[in-house]
Amino acid sequence: MLKKLFQTLRLPLRRARPPRTTPEVLTSRQHPLRRGQRISRHAVSVVERLQQAGYQAYLVGGCVRDLLLDLEPKDFDVATNATPEQVRAEFRNARVIGRRFKLVHVHFGREIIEVATFRAQHPQGDEEVDSAQAARNESGRILRDNVYGTLEDDAQRRDFTINALYFDVTAERILDYARGVHDIRNRLIRLIGDPEQRYLEDPVRMLRAVRFAAKLGFEIEKHTAAPIPKLAPMLREIPPARLFDEVLKLFLSGYAERTYQLLLQYDLFAPLFPASAAALEQNPEYTHRLIRQALINTDERIRLGKPVTPAFLFAALLWPALPARVARLQERGMPPIPALQEAAHELISEQCQRIAVPKRFTIPIREIWDMQERLPRRTGKRADLLLESPRFRAGYDFLLLRESAGDDTGGLGAWWTVYQEASDSVRRQMIRELSSKDAGEGGQRKRRRGGRRRRGSNAATPVSDDQ
Ligand code: ATP
Ligand code: MG
Repeated sequence: MLKKLFQTLRLPLRRARPPRTTPEVLTSRQHPLRRGQRISRHAVSVVERLQQAGYQAYLVGGCVRDLLLDLEPKDFDVATNATPEQVRAEFRNARVIGRRFKLVHVHFGREIIEVATFRAQHPQGDEEVDSAQAARNESGRILRDNVYGTLEDDAQRRDFTINALYFDVTAERILDYARGVHDIRNRLIRLIGDPEQRYLEDPVRMLRAVRFAAKLGFEIEKHTAAPIPKLAPMLREIPPARLFDEVLKLFLSGYAERTYQLLLQYDLFAPLFPASAAALEQNPEYTHRLIRQALINTDERIRLGKPVTPAFLFAALLWPALPARVARLQERGMPPIPALQEAAHELISEQCQRIAVPKRFTIPIREIWDMQERLPRRTGKRADLLLESPRFRAGYDFLLLRESAGDDTGGLGAWWTVYQEASDSVRRQMIRELSSKDAGEGGQRKRRRGGRRRRGSNAATPVSDDQ
């Protein structure tokens, strides 16, 4: 398909890349995008409405890129020379959002078309600039970006060449200011302008480079890739709420496993997840296996259209960092269960300073971890009560994940797999067998009581059935 597509994209190859003020124009004969095909009719109507009102308006960014690659666009973004207030005035269903970067959201039921006003390059200078429209901090990071400009300006301040393609739905023409079509053809992620400066302006672009490389299976062009490891620590300056959004995009877009490998390769993982990165150093095999498997499962669920929750993902990413903390607290004399709870609390609080995980997810993270403590305790009515818990499924899935990474739980996952499917009488039998096993092991256990509890090789939690 790509080959066929590029037979129609007959563009000269060029090496040097000075900024362009005139675009390469691809007419409808030179590309396969059609306004009636695979393009949201709402997006088309927003563009047409703005054009009828006398403004310039184009589809831009990921949707044009993805359509050229024969992928389903995630959403449709529009760029226009109308200001946010002018855009809002054209639509009944529009809202201005954002401060750092003002945008208009035009709502059509559940679909939102995002409309951005053309931006100009940011004012340069070493000193701190501060105004209502634009602001940078001392390292050059853009704090506010509301300096409006022309279409040409707008193309230059976009992140990657492949994201700077504008599609005029009326004339069915593509405007290419940064030779993005060339980079799509060569499967390259390339920043527009000087890479280091562009990362200093907005370090999140490093995460975006990795995200698009993973999603599209593209390579990060060497000058775009080179500064990343050095500048990766700058992610620490990004507001934690923005990083939460970015991390969800990294891990919940269906390419989490590939993304994780790239984050490691470019030293971007540690500034996002410092405790997990430390666990990767201390216990590399288990940590790597558990995180990878969690991400592979997530990708698979997304492929199958099954729901995924950020809580499970964060529970897995952070879990390998727990045992060392639990051990430290136990060494100070804290009993195992309070030590686990305190360690969980500390770990989540620390992580939230980097990535602001909302409470509605941190609570289930702890519940999933607590479940690991409770799933081994099945005697009496406990197993049935656990099964009724709303958190059972996530806890059970997490147990299987731990086992697949090498935690020795004594076959606990398999036991629960059978128990869930079993008839009442078989369930009673299974519980009786547990009790008799317990009785048989009683003497042994008594001897162990004063000493260390039995635990999974890498588990933070005891797995014995006797608490
Ligand atoms: P996705 O498929 O994830 O939606 P996208 O490329 O559309 O990919 P968005 O985050 O929706 O990404 O952003 C829309 C467009 O806005 C991008 O294609 C890019 O041109 C521009 N953009 C977004 N974030 C930045 C940034 N941090 N710096 C510069 N340009 C950006
Ligand atoms: Mg988009």
